[in-house]
Amino acid sequence: MTLQAKRTDAVARDEHDALSAYRDEFYLQPGSIYMDGNSLGLLSKRAEKTLLESLSDWKELGIDGWMKGRHPWFELSERLAALNAPLVGAQAEEVMVTGSTTVNLHQLVATFFQPTEGRDKILADALTFPSDIYALQSQLRLRGLDPETHLVQVPSRDGRFLEEDDIIAAMTDDIALIVLPAVLYRSGQILDMERLTKAAHDRGILIGFDGCHSVGAVPHAFHDWGVDFAYWCNYKHLNGGPGTVGGLFVHERHFGTLPGLTGWFGSRKDKQFDMDHTMTPAAHAGAFQIGTPHVLSLAPQIGALEMFDEVGIEAVRTKSLALTQYMMELVEQELTPYGFVIGNPIDDKRRGAHLSLEHPEAARICKALKENRIIPDFRAPNIVRLAPVALYNTFTDVYDVVATLKRIMEDKEYERFANEREVVA
Ligand SMILES: *Cc1c(COP(=O)(O)O)cnc(C)c1O
Repeated sequence: MTLQAKRTDAVARDEHDALSAYRDEFYLQPGSIYMDGNSLGLLSKRAEKTLLESLSDWKELGIDGWMKGRHPWFELSERLAALNAPLVGAQAEEVMVTGSTTVNLHQLVATFFQPTEGRDKILADALTFPSDIYALQSQLRLRGLDPETHLVQVPSRDGRFLEEDDIIAAMTDDIALIVLPAVLYRSGQILDMERLTKAAHDRGILIGFDGCHSVGAVPHAFHDWGVDFAYWCNYKHLNGGPGTVGGLFVHERHFGTLPGLTGWFGSRKDKQFDMDHTMTPAAHAGAFQIGTPHVLSLAPQIGALEMFDEVGIEAVRTKSLALTQYMMELVEQELTPYGFVIGNPIDDKRRGAHLSLEHPEAARICKALKENRIIPDFRAPNIVRLAPVALYNTFTDVYDVVATLKRIMEDKEYERFANEREVVA
């Protein structure tokens, strides 16, 4: 196929796209292609609307916004939890929208890490996001345990992927708790959460997952898999806004477990304003809230999550897989001669929602892409991460990104930039 014919083919794919109407729901910058929705999802018109409505509620109602606002603030976290629940395969009561990714991890480890004599270690992996590791290290220190000896990190054989067999082999008798990513943030590998959960439970170990790169892109069945807990952020694939409030899941079998970090918003709602010094925790995941919710940061999620509710996660996943599959085909045809290596899983069952293209010049290739108004992100030392997002990217976007990358390589346009990362990458 000529390049022109390939672009025509991409346009035809867009014409058959069942989700194409959603692109207009988002603020896309004309002439620019956004491929970074796995770091910060874009603003939608609906999210803007629900944020502005909550702002007006504050303006017009003051304190009465808690009960009488268009989106009453007092129940807002619970309402958003119900919208998150189908995305993670949970009952509404098992989910809470609260805190942030790292804070929720602290909360869950403070709750579920119960070291005993001889079983006092936490198992994680060598490829996970640094904040998760920092949180686990500090939780160990708080218990008087040394992270050097008590945090076990399963190594990767190739620096890209984790082998479930290796993780299971590391589930030894001294492990009390396991925390792993659902989708690895660099390679986009999906771990087999069902298998890992079963293996952990067979050995008497609790297990939780970080869903930052999976929630809103990949279906989950946390409840049916029996996962003990999970946590995620709502600003990546869920488009809730920069730093918006995160999510957590606690399996119903743990309802009634006293949260490690308690605060008055974890109370039963009818009891909260009794102002009693004996807490009556909510009977469900609501107990894991700590303080007053960040209402203006929650508000955009109402509109953003409504779209996932309409479309359903299966349709999002189907389009996402088609986009990444198509991008991999184009990369193989057009970019492998320039030294790019596909560093994400090829198999649909193991591939998350982004491509991880490895190249020694990745840092400055990303800068050249930005110069061409294409927004990727760079992950040191050598990864160009590209996330074609189901709700707002097109097959034509994918084509144009690959064609631009090819031109950048052909013309050596990247050589005009220094091969080092920027402060925010
Ligand atoms: C984005 C991300 C985080 C970020 O945590 P915050 O507390 O929201 O800053 C943590 N873990 C993973 C795997 C992530 O992808």
